[in-house]
Amino acid sequence: MFEYAPAPESRAVVDIKASYGLFIDGAFSDPADGASFKTINPASEEVLSEVAEGGPADVDRAVAAARKAYDKVWSRMPGRDRAKYLYRIARIIQERGRELAVLESLDNGKPIRESRDVDIPLVAAHFFYYAGWADKLPYAGFGPAPRPLGVAAQVIPWNFPLLMLAWKIAPALAAGNTVVLKPAETTPLTALLFAEICQQADLPPGVVNIVTGAGDTGRALVEHAGVDKIAFTGSTEVGKAIARSAAGSRKKVTLELGGKAANVLFEDAPIDQAVEGIVNGIFFNQGHVCCAGSRLLVQESVYEPVLASLKRRMARLRVGDPLDKNTDIGAINSAAQLERIRTLSDIGGEEGAERWSPPCDLPDNGFWFAPTIFTGVTQAHRIAREEIFGPVLSVLTFRTPAEAVEKANNTPYGLSAGVWTEKGSRILWMADRLRAGVVWANTFNKFDPTSPFGGYKESGYGREGGRHGLEAYLDV
Ligand code: NAP
Ligand code: MG
Repeated sequence: MFEYAPAPESRAVVDIKASYGLFIDGAFSDPADGASFKTINPASEEVLSEVAEGGPADVDRAVAAARKAYDKVWSRMPGRDRAKYLYRIARIIQERGRELAVLESLDNGKPIRESRDVDIPLVAAHFFYYAGWADKLPYAGFGPAPRPLGVAAQVIPWNFPLLMLAWKIAPALAAGNTVVLKPAETTPLTALLFAEICQQADLPPGVVNIVTGAGDTGRALVEHAGVDKIAFTGSTEVGKAIARSAAGSRKKVTLELGGKAANVLFEDAPIDQAVEGIVNGIFFNQGHVCCAGSRLLVQESVYEPVLASLKRRMARLRVGDPLDKNTDIGAINSAAQLERIRTLSDIGGEEGAERWSPPCDLPDNGFWFAPTIFTGVTQAHRIAREEIFGPVLSVLTFRTPAEAVEKANNTPYGLSAGVWTEKGSRILWMADRLRAGVVWANTFNKFDPTSPFGGYKESGYGREGGRHGLEAYLDV
């Protein structure tokens, strides 16, 4: 093993307040009943801040503020002027990128290498991209004068806190809607810093409202009679509950839910390159990724060398301090998520799959899980069927392309898939048959604001990103 000196990023670059209120109508205020909760650093279990918990009365106030801003200011403002605010927000995000990256890693547990090089640059890119659409909506292909919907209720998960916020807020504002957003309970801090950025950008009060809290706050928001649109990213279970509660109302709904992606490796693929992609596919962001390549399908003829190369590569992954620039795998986001990963992994062992992790020293405090693979997995195993949302890979084999397609599609989900082969015609053949919203070829986890993202089947409906992402916020 290589030894590295610690290379920690400074946490002094960000100011974390002892407590935060709700961001409603352009200002921070206390919740009606004074309730609050703590958010912690999952790498140390240290309390970072005390955050307001919004109740029904607060949601009411936020929706009213968003309605007023919609009617009086935002929906009447010419697109070219809305664009100026979005460009301004994008530039401030770039300027304060280091601060945002450190805060994201502290509150979420993801490695600084990812928050700095992936999350925050993509956040800025989304605001720049949708700023460009704000004055060009008549050319987006949705009619000569597409209208916004009104007030959008947006609920997001904890795995990419600020990126999910950007995916939701940037297209909504570009299209002329106002928003009330609820971040996840374990990761509210970058959304609150974003609220400060809205103030810094002089965004008119009420256009963006951030109401922190847990599941009950989210439910109060999506069930509020005053919202016109619901955008939810999270688990399939909660997504179904939201779809049921919105049925029969006039609310438009988009759902981005879970996934169980297959990464299909053919015998002609360059193995070491493919192994890099497999590792990125499942261990990026501790595997807390809806489109994670959590099922590896390897063609039988190359099973042995692929597995040997994969284990060699996994033994080089560095697990530990998220703020260390050399860290590959950070902390699991919460004790509850760690428990879920442990339980499903134990079940994998009980069902007869063989479990392997490289030797790996885990810190004493915080929530950690070593990178893990299961071999000898069958399609009936729960680890092959259920979303684990952690650094755990199931390895299965196949003989023919047709068998690969059948196994890859044998899941209730349909968010993403990966194909590794030298043969271009086979890539197209596979892409035609894989039931997944995104198919990556000889790469994985590539995101771009111009490219639509979303699922089939139980992975949800609607698309985020690109021109398609505007449709969800326009009356078309
Ligand atoms: P979750 O439990 O469904 O939570 C998602 C959000 O919904 C959180 O803000 C949560 O609040 C809130 N919430 C919980 N119950 C609610 C209810 N009854 N009504 C309204 N809101 C409610 O999901 P999670 O387990 O935290 O997140 C991981 C899931 O997200 C995975 O399944 C993953 O695949 C999916 N995901 C999908 C995408 C995609 O684009 N398809 C992207 C990222 C993640 P609290 O957490 O504060 O309680
Ligand atoms: Mg936290």
